[in-house]
Amino acid sequence: MKKNIVVALTKGRILKESLPLLADAGVEPVEPIDTTRKLLLKTNHQDIKLAILRGADVPTYVRYGSADLGIVGRDILLEYGSEGFYEAADLGIASCRLMTAGIPNSSPHVGTVRVATKFVNITREHFARKGKQIELVKLYGALELAPLMNLADLIVDLVDTGDTLSANGLVPFEEILAISSRLIVNKASIRQNNSFLLKFIDSLAKLSE
Ligand code: AMP
Repeated sequence: MKKNIVVALTKGRILKESLPLLADAGVEPVEPIDTTRKLLLKTNHQDIKLAILRGADVPTYVRYGSADLGIVGRDILLEYGSEGFYEAADLGIASCRLMTAGIPNSSPHVGTVRVATKFVNITREHFARKGKQIELVKLYGALELAPLMNLADLIVDLVDTGDTLSANGLVPFEEILAISSRLIVNKASIRQNNSFLLKFIDSLAKLSE
């Protein structure tokens, strides 16, 4: 039986909010997580390691079994698919909303609205459901710049406090999805029936109730 357990964590806000939850479940990194450049960290638990990844890569590591567990935003699961692993719990951390946003009081767009986003699949489905035709522009970061630089009429992005939008003169318009982080589990890891892993999953799920 595979002994080591690897937990894939999404760097950024989700990582920050995952650490207290993991600590409550008895798992803490023993290396300085804020300053280290290491991506695979030891914990106080000899058999548990933490991998620090980009959100979009977390499902891949869990699907292939390189990581047993993952903590990842619902936005990533909906955008890139959630096949090939189990979603064990809504951890209720890193909550935010996926929203449309743009320049306030901008004149209604004539013709096809251009929407810039990282979340092209979710955005396409959202506007298709509304029967609205759009032109999608895929961006990888700094979405707030797109309306300011006339690249797009709207953006679809994650909004928490709204400070980033307002700092750039934008306002939120419509909520598309409520987002929080999910605990995902490799299917084979569950089948191995490692009682320690099952207890660990259970305690993370219970802590978030
Ligand atoms: P805020 O200014 O608090 O509304 O945060 C908005 C910025 O943080 C945007 O760049 C978002 O992409 C990012 N953001 C907000 N919430 C989250 C989250 N839960 N996970 C990842 N990124 C987020």
